[in-house]
Amino acid sequence: VHKFGGSSLADASLYRTAAALVGDSTRTRVVVVSAMQGVTDSLIALLETARRGDAWQSAFDTLRERHATAAAALDTDGRFELQRALEREFDTLRRHLESIASNAPDAHLLAPGLPGFGEVLSSHLMHAALGGDATSWRRLDARDVLLVHAGEMGMAVDWNESRKRLADWRAKHGDGNVVITGFVARDAQGHATTLGRNGSDYSAAIFANLFDAEALTIWTDVDGVLSADPRLVPEAVCLPSMSYAEACELAYFGAKVLHPQTMAPVQERGIPLWIRNTKRPEAPGTLIAPDSGRDGAPVKGLSLVRDLAIVELVGNGMVGVP
Ligand code: ADP
Ligand code: ASP
Ligand code: MG
Repeated sequence: VHKFGGSSLADASLYRTAAALVGDSTRTRVVVVSAMQGVTDSLIALLETARRGDAWQSAFDTLRERHATAAAALDTDGRFELQRALEREFDTLRRHLESIASNAPDAHLLAPGLPGFGEVLSSHLMHAALGGDATSWRRLDARDVLLVHAGEMGMAVDWNESRKRLADWRAKHGDGNVVITGFVARDAQGHATTLGRNGSDYSAAIFANLFDAEALTIWTDVDGVLSADPRLVPEAVCLPSMSYAEACELAYFGAKVLHPQTMAPVQERGIPLWIRNTKRPEAPGTLIAPDSGRDGAPVKGLSLVRDLAIVELVGNGMVGVP
C-alpha cells in the first residue's frame, strides 16, 4: 500500500511522478491518495462561505479550473474521460453547496462529507496517471466500503462491516490494483464523513490492514520522520528507524508528518511502515516497525504542541487536594 499526501500531489506532473514510484510489480498494489495540495483548505473555506450565505461561486470555479487543468495534462486525448468524471463530481459538490447555502433540511447532513471531495477528485486524477481502466487499476471510493463512528480518539473503524464491504467490492471488481480515496468514509446512518484533518495517513493504515498488506509506504515531502519539525529546527535529522510506540508518541504530541491514529491498524498486523520522500526516492526513509532500532539513542525526537498553557492553582486550601 502506497499513500501520497497533498504535498506530493500539487499538479499533474507530480501525479505522474507518484504513479512512477508505485512502479511495476507482480504483486497487488493499493494507492491511497490525498487531495491536491491546499484543496481541503479551499473546500472548508467554501463550506464556511456557503454557510454564511456569502458568494461561493467564484472560489468554486477556481477549484474546478485547477482540477480541469490537471485533467487536461493527464488525459491529453480524452481517452480516460477524465474531464467528464470530474464534472460529475463538481456537479454533486455544487448541489451540496447550494443546499448548504439555502439552509435546506439536509444541509447539516451534507456538511461533514464536503471537505472530502478533494480526495474523490484526486482519485480520478491518479487513476488516469496510472493508465485508467485499460490497465489492471480500479478506482475505489472509500465511502463505499469504510464504515466509521466517532470514538474517544477520533474516528473509529467498524472493522467487521468495512471488511465485509471491501470483500463484496473485490468480488465485483476483481483482485487487481486499486486507487483509493484517503480521508473519506461513511457513518452508520449512511452519510459521507471524513477521518479528520491529515486523516489520509490513517486511511492508508486502515486499508493496509484490510488488504493485509506486506508493507505500507507513506510518501511525503520530507525524507522521513525527523528528529524535530524541520520548519522550526532546520538542522533536524532523519531517523532511520523507530518503533510504532515511538512514532505514535511523536505524532500524538504534534509531529505533523503522521496522523496519530496511523500506527494502530498497521501495528495490529505487524505491517512495516515506511515514510519516504516523493522528491528524493533515493533516500532510505524511516522504517516504523515493532522494534525501535539499534542506534542506542534513548530520545528519538522532539515535538511541539502549540497554544497550550499550564494553569497552576496555589494556596493553602489546595494542600493535598488532587
Ligand atoms: P502530506 O501532505 O504528505 O500528508 P504533511 O504536510 O501532512 O504532508 O506532513 C509533512 C510535513 O510535516 C513536513 O513537510 C514537515 O514540515 C512536517 N513535520 C513536522 N514535524 C515533523 C517531523 N518530526 N518529521 C518530519 N516532518 C515533520
Ligand atoms: N486532505 C486532507 C487534509 O488536508 C487529508 C490528508 O491529506 O491527510 O486534511
Ligand atoms: Mg499529512
